Amino acid sequence: MGSTGSIGRQTLDVVRLHPDRFEVALLTARSSSELLIKQALEFKPDDVVICDPSKWEEVRRALSGTTTEVHAGMDSVCGLVTGDVDIVLSALVGFSGLRPTLAAIGAGKTIALANKETLVAAGSIVMDRAEKAGVRIRPVDSEHSAIWQCLEGAAGNPVEKIHLTASGGPFRTWPRERIAAATKDMALKHPNWSMGAKITIDSATMMNKGFELIEAKWLFETPAAKIHVVVHPESIIHSMVEFRDGSVIAQLGCPDMREPIQLALTYPERLYLNNKKLDFAALGSLSFQEPDLERFPCLGLAFDAIGRGGNVPAALNAANEAAVAAYLEDRIGFYDISGIVSDCIDGVDFVAEPSPEDIFTTNDVVLRRADELIRRWLHS
Ligand code: MG
Repeated sequence: MGSTGSIGRQTLDVVRLHPDRFEVALLTARSSSELLIKQALEFKPDDVVICDPSKWEEVRRALSGTTTEVHAGMDSVCGLVTGDVDIVLSALVGFSGLRPTLAAIGAGKTIALANKETLVAAGSIVMDRAEKAGVRIRPVDSEHSAIWQCLEGAAGNPVEKIHLTASGGPFRTWPRERIAAATKDMALKHPNWSMGAKITIDSATMMNKGFELIEAKWLFETPAAKIHVVVHPESIIHSMVEFRDGSVIAQLGCPDMREPIQLALTYPERLYLNNKKLDFAALGSLSFQEPDLERFPCLGLAFDAIGRGGNVPAALNAANEAAVAAYLEDRIGFYDISGIVSDCIDGVDFVAEPSPEDIFTTNDVVLRRADELIRRWLHS
């Protein structure tokens, strides 16, 4: 799901590298019809979905001589992921990933999860349904893949701490005034990782790390208080797990998303990957810093949302989604993102144990509230 985005394209790179191991059953895209057509011609899936219905005719015509069936709309995605597939890689952007991921879980499919917003907005529901359906959720997010790999060495011992590493993003060393004036082009230049626009802005604000903390809490059933964020600008250590004897297990590698993607698809087997390998002598040293909540208030807002629990993380996610979209359209400034998120999570009607309906309602209400704030910001 989400084959034309950054994770989707890198997933197909992995498939291309091991054609004997994978068969693509389904590809879905939001609106990038041209790339979806190219991918369908190369990988010959049984079905493709273009979510934007206005692009359906174009895709259908281009694939008319093939065995691939062409569908439109998110309902088709939710239906087709329950079909004849072994594993569903969920790489949709934002809240839109929740419905189809729940559908795939309901049908008992193994999930390779790149769409962290699903767990941020509805972690308790997703994990509960996965447990009931006996479904494994394999992390694709590099930090969570690292933690997952480190836990292989835990041998059933309790985890004392998770050290979640953060690159610090493009503004790690910038003073606050300079960050405040940063344009989206500056924010979109991530120093280490090549990713989609939304997550790259989330990395620049460090909201991404807050989301990842929530994601880790759910995936590894670890209280947020035991998860520590540490800035590690080189992005070589992808995260670490500490035990009560003080021993720390880390997972390392050159930053390349294809590595966690491939492992999520082939676990526990490790296949060859044509990526850059580590040269420790060339690296010389690795460095670590405390995150700065003053310059990166989104991280503090995420901590706050986790502490309050219930539907507050869903509100955090919705407000951030609206604010980042507005920032990407040059409608608001960098620190307006945290301003809007802060206002929205403070104003949310609290639900301690949200149902799926509560999560969808929170999402809608907060998106509207954030849009109102964005409009007001523009006229002030
Ligand atoms: Mg990550």
